[in-house]
Order: sequence, then structure tokens, then C-alpha cells
Amino acid sequence: MNGKDLVFLDNAASTQKPKSVLERINNFYSSQYANIHRSAYTLAENATQEYENTRKKVQNFINANDVNEIIFTKGTTDSLNLLSYSLGKYMIKEGDEIVISAMEHHANIVPWQIICEDKKAKLKVIPINSNGELILDNINEIITEKTKIVSIVHISNSLGTINPIKEIIELAHSQGAYVIIDAAQSIQHKKIDVQELDCDFFVFSAHKLYGPTGVGVIYGKKELLEKMPPYQTGGEMIAKVTFEKTTFNVLPYKFEAGTPNIAGVIGFGAAIDYISKIGIDVIDKVESELLDYAHQKLTQIEGLRVIGTAKNKASVLSFLIDGIHPTDLGTMANAYGIAMRVGHHCTQPLMDFFEIPGTCRASFAFYNTKEEIDILFDALNRIKKLLG
Ligand code: PMP
Repeated sequence: MNGKDLVFLDNAASTQKPKSVLERINNFYSSQYANIHRSAYTLAENATQEYENTRKKVQNFINANDVNEIIFTKGTTDSLNLLSYSLGKYMIKEGDEIVISAMEHHANIVPWQIICEDKKAKLKVIPINSNGELILDNINEIITEKTKIVSIVHISNSLGTINPIKEIIELAHSQGAYVIIDAAQSIQHKKIDVQELDCDFFVFSAHKLYGPTGVGVIYGKKELLEKMPPYQTGGEMIAKVTFEKTTFNVLPYKFEAGTPNIAGVIGFGAAIDYISKIGIDVIDKVESELLDYAHQKLTQIEGLRVIGTAKNKASVLSFLIDGIHPTDLGTMANAYGIAMRVGHHCTQPLMDFFEIPGTCRASFAFYNTKEEIDILFDALNRIKKLLG
């Protein structure tokens, strides 16, 4: 990349794909391709089986109780839009409250703003401290009997903060609220057991978990999903259509209108196999070591300020260097073959809280190395000499 070996440190935005995922997609399109569900021929039956196998893999991966609690979407954004629309329609009334946090991604802010506006409900925000940790001291004033939904990020994409979601889930349930966990940044780092967490909904994207783009997941408790109205309508999600009335399909198909991303879902199954073989605990350990190493190394650079210094962090390192705009930092690092994200990371309110335009973000996956962090360290020192 630009005459150097590529150092890919943008894994929080998306991960690179293992060969097994690429080969699975290629094989499916090359020799096994057909549309799924409702068919009399073997090719389509086999494709259906493969698609549904991924649903089982996801169920096992997050320990859901029932395979029909797994709904395929286009990604986390799509999952959150589905939930806000459907739950909004099903249960939000004037005067109700929805709670999010100050470190949410725009995908977990905007859909709730729209529902609140529509329904004359109120959006409340759990504040954070200067380390980028949730302030839970006055949480009983934020999550109250008026709260109907708490939608909260598990791990912040901008700060790396790991939130105490188990505690928040218990608190919200004690007030009768449902809890949605935005796991876009946790599914690839942490072992997840949705039954143990007891969350009502849990959403993530395949592409951050070494799978293809255009595929996401909603886990939802069956008794809730059954009561919720569909989001998109059309083929596949129906039981019976007449011009007078339509009845809807059973779970999970009620929420999967139209032809889905069949090859993407099947490729995602291969990604889950790949991750399961390595072991998420192993991945977590390697990434924690990389984060510690990067933190220890980069903080040696004079004038470098880490944004997000929570006690409990995942492998995201956001930083600024005094006197250098993050965009200049990222652009210059690119000349050294380093791929890093710069900007507000779709968390503008969080950037406003820190009173900064954005950050430079290095995010690590288990395939990164300490040598790559050394390259980043050297590049930042050179850039600092040039621009600082
Ligand atoms: N939430 C968080 C915490 C994220 O990091 C992201 C992706 N940056 C999203 C939601 C949205 O995910 P997607 O773009 O895959 O829909």
C-alpha cells in the first residue's frame, strides 16, 4: 500500500475476510445457487438448508434458546431500524420514555429520535465521564417506570469502553423496560450468551465478524417478536394474502420480507465456523495484549492524548496529537501504508462532549501484530516531526 506493507488498523469499521468465507461464497454462487424457501427442486432445497444452517450457527454462537429467535437483516443499522419501527408501533405511546447513552453510534440515536418525535415520547441519555465511562450514580432518575426501551451499546466504537450491560439490563427490567444491546463492536471480541445476559434484543453485523457485508442479525426473545408487527412487507413474510386482508408468516420469516442476501448469510456461516475454531476467548486475549501494547507504546509520544480511558476497554485506541488535525494524521499515516479511521466515527454527540472534531482511531483484530503497532508508532513520530 503506497509502496509499503499494508498495516490494517481499521477493524472496528470492518474486518478482512478469511479464505474459507470467500471460498464458501464462491462455491455457492458457482455450483449451488438458487433462491431459497418454497420450492420443489433439490438445488433450492439445498440452498435453503444452507441458509437455515447459518441461523442455527448464530443461535449456537450466542446461545439463543430457539432458532426462530434469530432474524437476518442487512446489518446493525437495519436491525435497529426494524426494532425502533416495530417496537415503536407496538408499544410506544405519548409520554413514554426511551433511554440511550451519550456514547451511542448514530444508528442507535436517530431511529429513536424519529419514533420519539412520531409518538411524542421522550428520549433520555445516560451521561458519561471524561474517561468515557457511563455515569450510573443517578440511573434511577433516568430509567424509571416511564421507560419502555433501553437501547445501549455494549462496546463503544469510538472509545472502546465496555459497558456494564448486565447491570443495566437488570435495572431496566426492574422498571419493566425492554433492553436492546447494540453489539456491533462486541460480538467479535467477547463471548456472548444472550440467555445469561437476559437481554430482550441483541443486534450485530456480519461484516465486523469476518463475514460479508449486507448481513446482520437480530436476536429477540420469542414471546416479544411474536407480538411485534412486521417492519417491511411483501413476499416471504406473509401467510395468506387476499385483497381484503393479509396474515403474516411465523417467526422468523415475518421479519424477513423479500429475497434475502442468501450468499452473504451462507458466507457468514463460514465466518462463524472460522471464529469458533480459533475460539473467541483466544481472540479476546490476543486483542487485549495488542491494546495494552499499543497503549503503552503510543502514550510515549509527547502530546498524544488518548480519547477513551475507561478501566474496561476493548481493542479500540482513539487518540489525538497536539496541534495536528486528526484528518492530517490519518492522511499522512496512509503514506506509511497504515489504514486508520479518522473523524467522528458516527458519534457526533460524543465528539461534542469531548469538544473535539474527531479522533484518529486504531482498532485491532487478532490478526494484527506488535510489529504493526511499532510501524504505527514510528510513523506517528515522523508525522509529528513534520507537522507538529
Ligand atoms: N453501532 C455501532 C457501535 C457500530 O460500531 C456500528 C458500525 N460502525 C453500527 C452500529 C452500525 O453498523 P452497520 O454499519 O454495520 O450497520
